[in-house]
Amino acid sequence: MSEEAFVFDCLNFPCHDACCFYGVDVRPEERERLIRDGYATAEDFTGPTEEDGELYYRTRTNGRGCVFLKENARGCRLHEFDVKPEVCNVFPRDEEEAREMYEDGTLPCFPHISFPAPSIESE
Ligand code: SF4
Repeated sequence: MSEEAFVFDCLNFPCHDACCFYGVDVRPEERERLIRDGYATAEDFTGPTEEDGELYYRTRTNGRGCVFLKENARGCRLHEFDVKPEVCNVFPRDEEEAREMYEDGTLPCFPHISFPAPSIESE
């Protein structure tokens, strides 16, 4: 099989952005950066909550999923500015995490992707 034989087309997979449905946890400094640079407002986050001694905010969700999903198109509106929260850039971190998300129903594309997961350049 050649290296270019399979390129997963994330934005045309019929999942309705399932992996962004529940939003994500962000560190306080990530939240502050997004607000300071004009990509978000304080209302785009809930929290903070504490976990293992660390504070996290969570991206707010609406009926479709994370508030940072584009309104009339697929994908994240932060992606084109390269300012997504770190967790979004590294998810899924490995095949085990991807399988768990698939079993939870939040990564329906799992059977169609190979690991290491491709970066989503076209989002
Ligand atoms: S910030 Fe963007 S990539 Fe991360 S969950 Fe929200 S919409 Fe998805």
